Amino acid sequence: MTTRNSRSALVCGAGGFIGGHLVKRLKREGFWVRGVDLKLPPFSESQADDFVLGDLRAQEFCREVVDRRFDEVYQLAADMGGAGYIFTGEHDADVMHNSATINLNMLEVCQKRKIRGLFYSSSACIYPEHNQTDPDNPNCSEESAYPAAPDSEYGWEKLFSERLYAAYNRNYQMRNRVARYHNIFGPEGTWDGGKEKAPAAVCRKVAKASNGGEIEIWGDGSQTRSFLYVDECLEGTTRLTRSDFSGPVNIGSEEMVTINQLVDLVSEIAGKKLTKKHIPGPLGVRGRNSDNRLIYQKLGWKPSASLRSGLEKTYEWVEMQVRKDRGHIQVPGHEEVS
Ligand code: NAD
Repeated sequence: MTTRNSRSALVCGAGGFIGGHLVKRLKREGFWVRGVDLKLPPFSESQADDFVLGDLRAQEFCREVVDRRFDEVYQLAADMGGAGYIFTGEHDADVMHNSATINLNMLEVCQKRKIRGLFYSSSACIYPEHNQTDPDNPNCSEESAYPAAPDSEYGWEKLFSERLYAAYNRNYQMRNRVARYHNIFGPEGTWDGGKEKAPAAVCRKVAKASNGGEIEIWGDGSQTRSFLYVDECLEGTTRLTRSDFSGPVNIGSEEMVTINQLVDLVSEIAGKKLTKKHIPGPLGVRGRNSDNRLIYQKLGWKPSASLRSGLEKTYEWVEMQVRKDRGHIQVPGHEEVS
């Protein structure tokens, strides 16, 4: 039960990577937290006061979990994964249907419950492909989203849902907040099995390789990205949720690196000398970087931790998973950036 004066929060997607970290953060801040997901967090026990297992595609279930006026609602649940999941085309219908249904349901139910607003996690994948062909100069300023041309159905669903949240703001006087996350990483993220993203995948490959060995990289490795450590992402997320600014706004890092540089950085952290073998694979856009001018202007905040400091913590955690997993059957890598 909520204690009389504690603030309450609902975290949809609390069994996932960012949602799991968000629950921990909100608990540290003194919130009473309800987490909802199809699954429990795979790597550590949830710290939510109440964790409800269920499917947010069912509106009746959404009504059950939104049984009160939460002070903060974070809608992070989505059918998603790295490039090996999003860019092959094999999951397009599920990705669009599942994620859009969750957003349609949650908005409707929260609006009826007179909740002031939700936080919604959109993605850098909404940005037009034609602005991200030059790896040295990608354009991801917020207004460049239109005319729209995302390179994946995942991105189109995110764009549709951004508009849905904005429409509820206009028509139902809600105060929904929308952030566009750019490649969030950290411990307790998916690190194998097909849904992992580049930092975790690279950490896994480096951890599994022996010094002097070889690791496989999708593409020529000169595609660029920036990666934001999960704690910084949550700082931006809670600041935006509690601000007067509705977004959409980028939450990402401006420290852009090539995938080859990412591999070199992780190898250095691991103290291994490795040769990169470039193989064909799904890649996404050639270049992507966050543009943090708007968030700085509106919230006076931008992330500050270096990529290296986040990778050190992430490598340590992934290496521990690899060690635990040794002796088990290995799943061939699917991964890279989205
Ligand atoms: P994640 O896959 O770890 O977490 C999403 C969670 O949603 C999963 O635990 C999943 O079980 C849950 N979920 C999916 N369908 C559900 C359903 N029908 N009912 C209940 N729960 C359901 O992903 P994440 O990395 O933690 O990302 C969180 C959010 O941030 C997602 O909306 C994602 O699209 C967005 N985002 C993430 C990144 C990133 O780099 N991680 C980048 C851009 C946007």
